[in-house]
Amino acid sequence: VSELLRRISELLPSEIVVTDPDLIQSYIRDESKLTEAGVPLAVLLPRTTAEVSLALASASELGIRVVTRGAGSGLSGGANAIEQCLVLSTRRMAEIVEVDPTERLLVAQPGVVTADIRTEARSHGLLYPPDPGSVAISSIGGNVATNAGGMCCVKYGVTGDYVLGLEVVLADGRVIRTGRRTVKGVAGYDLTHLFVGSEGSLGVITEVTLRLVPAPAEAHTVLATFSDVEAAGRAVQAVVRGPVTPSVFEIMDRTTLLAIEALSPLGFDESVGAVLLLQSDSLTGKEDAAVLADVCQTSGATEVAISDDPYEAHALLEARRLALPALEALGDWLLDDVCVPRSRIVDLIDVVQQVAAGERLTIGVFGHAGDGNMHPTIIFNAQNESSLSAARRAFDRITAAALHLGGTVTGEHGIGRLKTGWLLHELDSVAAQMHMTLKQAFDPSGILSPGVGLPQPD
Ligand SMILES: Cc1cc2nc3c(=O)[nH]c(=O)nc-3n(C[C@H](O)[C@H](O)[C@H](O)COP(=O)(O)OP(=O)(O)OC[C@H]3O[C@@H](n4cnc5c(N)ncnc54)[C@H](O)[C@@H]3O)c2cc1C
Repeated sequence: VSELLRRISELLPSEIVVTDPDLIQSYIRDESKLTEAGVPLAVLLPRTTAEVSLALASASELGIRVVTRGAGSGLSGGANAIEQCLVLSTRRMAEIVEVDPTERLLVAQPGVVTADIRTEARSHGLLYPPDPGSVAISSIGGNVATNAGGMCCVKYGVTGDYVLGLEVVLADGRVIRTGRRTVKGVAGYDLTHLFVGSEGSLGVITEVTLRLVPAPAEAHTVLATFSDVEAAGRAVQAVVRGPVTPSVFEIMDRTTLLAIEALSPLGFDESVGAVLLLQSDSLTGKEDAAVLADVCQTSGATEVAISDDPYEAHALLEARRLALPALEALGDWLLDDVCVPRSRIVDLIDVVQQVAAGERLTIGVFGHAGDGNMHPTIIFNAQNESSLSAARRAFDRITAAALHLGGTVTGEHGIGRLKTGWLLHELDSVAAQMHMTLKQAFDPSGILSPGVGLPQPD
């Protein structure tokens, strides 16, 4: 170890190498639970693409594994350190390089916080739509590397839909530019979107060119309460079949609502089985909200409220963002992230309720109803071996159920280290082979985040 550290110190500028064990501690894990992590040799804090390139060329030469880290807000263990790896943090690469309102694009370094991208776009009358729940802390590089979603996806899509081009440093230190700055362009393979969602396993993203859209109108909000999940599920299907595409379309079940109520009272009691929160930010928002409210009412909502007050809308979205912290307050937690066809949301919640009853666990479900992307959150006691085993079993049964219902094992958080084996359940054998071939082509010595996404080869 000391020989490796000596070589790293020779090869890299001392200002970017952190070896103090106390400082290294905060770079070991992301926000995921029950994922493996090791102690890195050192943390690298490069400031430029050239320094990232030098770092990767050196790691390649020394055969040291590298884990790239954005803000560490990931929920699947993708940024967790591996024993004796180098953690390459993009924290210091945090500048917005350019905004071009005519081409409607923004160029940023990877460490810029997502909320700052949105604020900068708004100052030019434009919108960068992706808004993961972690928008105030996550980095744009991490968002691209996980293809992050959020509440806006039902109308606006995911992070990848806004990535026009990238600068990436490959495992051996070579720098590649992908994509374009024009509105259209179809030359060559779409390497840009190969890196989107690659979770640090194909290269280190050092610059991102993002597409912006015109700023939307002030949102109109609909809050519909239902006595049971089935009625809410009927409303979800009726809305997605209808003429209005909401800009936000969220669901929370009773367990989640009661947890939020305990943290920040909104007036929900045991009689509320589920809530749908919808918004329209289009120019016809007022009429849209009336249509959405009507659909909820016809589908069996017990109460429907419409608001055009931006503060109220903001407060309701904040309440939805409280779902995870509120469930966290109930005990140790394990958050799942699965996506099912929207017609199968009720079936998934049904499975979750059966699993919760069978394993005697509390499991709250909230998520993006408009996408079918659900976050069943298992509450357990990590100090109790049988509770821990029950949580693991529940997690596996829910993930398997999502696949069985025609869904996918991750809607937005990524495979990371949490669901490595699950990727092979979802891919057919040829697709799995192609994944491995691509990994081999981009990172032949396998130094970039081994074990993230794909299992490590023997
Ligand atoms: C409270 C909370 C709410 C959340 N809500 C959402 C949500 O609504 N939607 C959602 O999708 N996610 C959500 N997340 C998860 C997380 O915020 C996202 O996955 C986010 O995109 C991670 O960004 P990060 O900068 O923290 O990346 P990290 O956690 O640091 O890294 C994530 C992955 O990206 C890789 N990576 C990071 N930067 C780079 C880079 N420059 N080049 C190559 N690879 C890189 C890492 O190696 C790792 O595999 C939430 C998390 C929390 C804690």
